[in-house]
Amino acid sequence: QSFEELGLDPRLIRALIKKGIEKPTPIQLVAIPLILEGKDVVARAKTGSGKTFAYLLPLLQKLFADSGSKNKLAPSAFILVPTRELCQQVYTEVSSLIELCRVQLKVVQLTSSMPASDLRTALAGPPDILVSTPACIPKCFSAGVLQPASINGSLEILVLDEADLLLSYGYEDDIKALTAHIPKRCQCLLMSATSSGDVEKLKKLILHNAFILTL
Ligand code: AMP
Repeated sequence: QSFEELGLDPRLIRALIKKGIEKPTPIQLVAIPLILEGKDVVARAKTGSGKTFAYLLPLLQKLFADSGSKNKLAPSAFILVPTRELCQQVYTEVSSLIELCRVQLKVVQLTSSMPASDLRTALAGPPDILVSTPACIPKCFSAGVLQPASINGSLEILVLDEADLLLSYGYEDDIKALTAHIPKRCQCLLMSATSSGDVEKLKKLILHNAFILTL
């Protein structure tokens, strides 16, 4: 099956071709249509399986629809990752896709070492997509640069990437600080290399009726 058959927007398909990517990987084949349909998804996918595009492509397609919308107070999508390196990698992939698609979407990455003034600048606007480690969320709350009520009003998609590592790296309390404010309509995607007890715990924290994909 091709990306066209999965229902992917032609702008994204053209961007992929420019990157030399023509055919979906197995995880992309299953995850993309489910995510486009709005389902919560738990996917077991290792680094190298194409798991980043498996969630980024449908996430961007969903945000194309509200590109340029001015009445949000917080980002529409959060992508939470366990390390600064992965944060940088995901940020670079999203930025490159947005540029190739020529859509008006703004993405920022936050790091927990950023002073409050930089967090405020990064979140002014607000951006459409935020990529960060979970530790930044309570920091933004206490600095007053992100309001829990705004998250509740704006968040449409939450991704926990490398979810198995998020808890083992000690981010449980930071994730809990956010989960209290996730609106019911928010779509949650959990990508993980293993299905450990930690992933089960996260599933209970954020998911209700997820599709579980094991590849
Ligand atoms: P990931 O599993 O997300 O870490 O991706 C591993 C690598 O595979 C990245 O360099 C991607 O650019 C590349 N990739 C992702 N999807 C595809 C695809 N459908 N075909 C070929 N390469 C891909």
